[in-house]
Amino acid sequence: MANKVAMVTGGGRGIGRAIVLRLAGDGFDMVVNSRQEQTVRAVVEEVTKLGRKALGIPADVSKSDLVRMMFDKALKEFGRLDVLVTNAGVTQVNTLDELTEEIWDRTMDVNAKGTFLCILEAAKQMIKQKSGRIIAIGSAFSVEAGIYHACYSASKFAVRGMTQAFAKELGPHGITVNCIAPGIIWTDMWKEADEKLSNIFGMRRGEAFEKFTQENVMLPESGKPEHIAPVVSFLASEGGGYITASTVSVGGGIPIV
Ligand code: NDP
Repeated sequence: MANKVAMVTGGGRGIGRAIVLRLAGDGFDMVVNSRQEQTVRAVVEEVTKLGRKALGIPADVSKSDLVRMMFDKALKEFGRLDVLVTNAGVTQVNTLDELTEEIWDRTMDVNAKGTFLCILEAAKQMIKQKSGRIIAIGSAFSVEAGIYHACYSASKFAVRGMTQAFAKELGPHGITVNCIAPGIIWTDMWKEADEKLSNIFGMRRGEAFEKFTQENVMLPESGKPEHIAPVVSFLASEGGGYITASTVSVGGGIPIV
C-alpha cells in the first residue's frame, strides 16, 4: 500500500498519538496535528523511525483559517488524502453552578466545530479522488451523556450527528464516514477529569477513574489508547470499506450502541 496518506488531529499524545503510530505501522504517510509544536515534532520523529514520511502541522482545529492552512500544506506535500481522523478534543468536568458561556463555546469550538471544519476540507479532496475514509473520534458520551459533562456531551452528540449526515452525502462519492465512541481510556484527559471528579466525590486521585471503570466496563481490563488505534486501522483498511454511518463502540462494553 504505497503512498497512502492519513491525517490525525490531536495526534500529539494519548489516543491520537496511538492512532498515528498504528496507521504509520500500517504503511500510511502521516500528517500529524495538535496545537503544541513540541509534541507534534516528537510524534513526527517516531513516525520517521517507523520508515514512513511525516509532516507535523501545529494548528488549532477550531480556527477555520488554520484548518485551511493545514490542508493546503498537507496536500502540497503529499498531493492526496486517504484518511482523516478527527481526534482533537477537550473536556472539562463541571457541576451546573460552574458552567459558563465560555466553557460551552470552547468545548463546542474544538470538539464540534473543529471536527466539522476538518471534514469539510477533507471532503473537497476526497470527492476529487472518489475515495476516502473519515473517522471521527466521538465518545461514549456521544450515545449517553455523562454527569458533569453537559458541554462535552453536547459536543460529542454533535460529532456523532454530523458523521451520519456526512455519510449520507459522501457515500455516493465512495467516501465512508464513521464515528468511534471510546469508553473510559486512561490518558492526560482522564487524568484531569479524575482529579476533578475525585474532588467532587471526596475520593483520592485515581479512584474516580476506577469507580467509573468498575461501574461501566464489562471486560476486566481498563481502557488504553492502544485499544482504540486498531479499530481506526480497520476502518481505514480494505476490510472496513463497506462500513459507513456507524458508531463503533470501543470501551469494553461502554457505550452500548
Ligand atoms: P488528550 O487530552 O490526552 O489529547 C488530546 C489531544 O488533542 C492533544 O494532543 C491536544 O494537544 C490536542 N488538541 C486539543 N485541542 C486541540 C485543538 N484545538 N486543535 C488541535 N489539537 C488539539 O485526550 P485523549 O487522547 O484522551 O482524547 C482524544 C480524543 O478521544 C478526544 O476527542 C476525546 O474527547 C476522545 N475521547 C477520550 C476518552 C478518554 O477516556 N480518554 C473517551 C472518549 C472520547 P494540544 O493541547 O497540543 O493541542
